[in-house]
Amino acid sequence: MLIVMRLGATKKQILEVVQGIEQIGYEAKISKGAQRSLILVHGNIGYIDESYFKKYSGIRDIIHISKRLKLVYKENVGGVDSVVDIGNNIRFNEKYSHIIAGPCSVESKDMIMETADFLHSRGIRIMRGGAFKPRTSPYSFQGLKEKALEYIAEAAHKYNMKFVSEAVDEYSLSLLSEIVDVIQIGARNMQNYSLLKKCGTIDKPILLKRGFTSSLDDLYVSLEYILAEGNQRIIVCERGIRVFEGTKQRSIIDLLGISDFKEECHLPMIVDTSHATRDRNKVPGLTRAAMAYGCDGLMIEVHPDPDKALSDGPQSLSFNDFDMLLIEMKKMSDLATKPIKFFKEDE
Ligand code: PEP
Ligand code: MN
Repeated sequence: MLIVMRLGATKKQILEVVQGIEQIGYEAKISKGAQRSLILVHGNIGYIDESYFKKYSGIRDIIHISKRLKLVYKENVGGVDSVVDIGNNIRFNEKYSHIIAGPCSVESKDMIMETADFLHSRGIRIMRGGAFKPRTSPYSFQGLKEKALEYIAEAAHKYNMKFVSEAVDEYSLSLLSEIVDVIQIGARNMQNYSLLKKCGTIDKPILLKRGFTSSLDDLYVSLEYILAEGNQRIIVCERGIRVFEGTKQRSIIDLLGISDFKEECHLPMIVDTSHATRDRNKVPGLTRAAMAYGCDGLMIEVHPDPDKALSDGPQSLSFNDFDMLLIEMKKMSDLATKPIKFFKEDE
């Protein structure tokens, strides 16, 4: 069973309902979001008579759900989209879409500073950069790890940027949650349920990428793992699913999936147009397509010198390439379902 509290329900009202649930021998778990507070009732085998809850104020809806997925569906949680606020006036799932850009990996302090300076001057306020890299080969560069976190903190502070970086295990998750603003869980870890559960307990937005071979339903299960632990601040990222083996295309961006997802789920969805391609020349086309499909943001890899990048160089855009793409994106912006927000110098 799921109890949806009214917007503005007080802490006291929420706690009274929790106590009431515990009094009848069930377990209650609170999930607090910007749009709603939810109380999940665990441990009931049969139907709970909802008249028991009449005495409590602040309840908006009581939903009897016995299915394996509850919190992921918009219709179950009051039909309202969840706005994910990452700070600095940046909100996903509102009127604007947002760009997250930066290198695949943090390679040195200089390159992070140079990239932050460049992106900031272009009105972008969210930067990406991996410190812990889940590479396809154990012999490839695995990231600067702890050292990278120092550079991220310095760049984020100097340029007033929000930072996204990937956690690959509980150790990196605990370090990153002290430093970065959004924790990315990559495609390879989308079904690492114990890591997802941990993500549900921390007070940080999560950026969850869809796995290479995951259906939307698989993605929903992963989201439910985070939501069920109480974290509603999740940005979902379509990054391409693997369809054909041994062909030139690495992956296919599931454009229809974006609109299906937005219909069914209350969370924002962004599109990573770099990782599907392995080819920087294909990034602009995919970016325009994703904008047309109504995503809430874009993730694009940008590097000061892509040919020398330690990871994902072939798909990374140089500053010059990125400038050209920004011209196209600005032209497209008015036609897109959600125009892109570019921040002013002092914002
Ligand atoms: C990345 O963002 O650099 C990355 C490894 O992404 P994915 O998990 O989508 O492969
Ligand atoms: Mn990458």
